[in-house]
Amino acid sequence: MKHPAPPSRNSSRAARLFVAASLLASASALTAALTADPPHVCDPCNEWNAPRPAFHVYGNTWFVGTAGLGSVLITSPKGHILIDGGLPQSAPLISANIAAAGFRLEDVKLIVNSHTHYDHAGGIAALVRASGAQVAASPASKRALEQGGPTEDDPQFGFGPEHNNYPAVHGVRAIADGETLRVGPLAITAHFTPGHTPGGTSWTWRACEGGRCLDLVYADSLNSVSSDDFRFSGDEIHGSRVDSFLHSIEVVASLPCDLLIAPHPVAIDLDEKLARWKQNPKLNPLIDRGACKAYAAGARERLAKRVTDEGVAR
Ligand SMILES: [Zn+2]
Repeated sequence: MKHPAPPSRNSSRAARLFVAASLLASASALTAALTADPPHVCDPCNEWNAPRPAFHVYGNTWFVGTAGLGSVLITSPKGHILIDGGLPQSAPLISANIAAAGFRLEDVKLIVNSHTHYDHAGGIAALVRASGAQVAASPASKRALEQGGPTEDDPQFGFGPEHNNYPAVHGVRAIADGETLRVGPLAITAHFTPGHTPGGTSWTWRACEGGRCLDLVYADSLNSVSSDDFRFSGDEIHGSRVDSFLHSIEVVASLPCDLLIAPHPVAIDLDEKLARWKQNPKLNPLIDRGACKAYAAGARERLAKRVTDEGVAR
């Protein structure tokens, strides 16, 4: 007759099975939280949402976004900060990139946003459900996030709810211009840069590597893009936005800036820089003291052209 296995082995096997089962259950709960929102449909959405492998930017900072949408993870042993959530359908890709970088989405304590359009804020609701993170935003961005779409004063409001709206984010903490937010040892500072949206915000923090600390910037979109009915130079209802937009462009130009990331990687030629980095791994082409000034100069030029075009169309 076979002797039964010792009870201790039985119970440790049962314990292992229990752990495996609860890991599976929490993994599927995470997947469910990340995929519950319907994907946003737009012409460039699929191209933007193509996967991009996570990569190490500098120090404690990782890029965890997609091919066409920025998302940045700033890490610490006491919890992480995430900037931007992409489209609703980007949330599982961002989560997978966070894991690939060696971190846990559940350790993200704070989520912030560049601006409240569907391609940068659409995934935040899912990422909050999956992580339990707090969201903090400018008062104008808080209004848009909590209603799940741009407010009436947004230059792109006229595109309509069908095009504009995304899953709403609840319980957003309103912050002040220049406020520094902290998670454990991390500190990230908000710079309000309205123009592309009323609540647009650029973010700065320091990251260190081998004793060398750099000023990192996640600059908001500074593109003067709108629906057909909107004029940056003002109309019967709205005053001109040109001066405040120009001020935001100056704010970005004068930020302490050693390394720039943007909500759309194409705006900083990220693929070209990554290709150069691959060829020469010792030289990080993202480190560029002129990057914020160049980004601002492009925006200034586009705004000037836009204002001229609006004058002609009048
Ligand atoms: Zn936008």
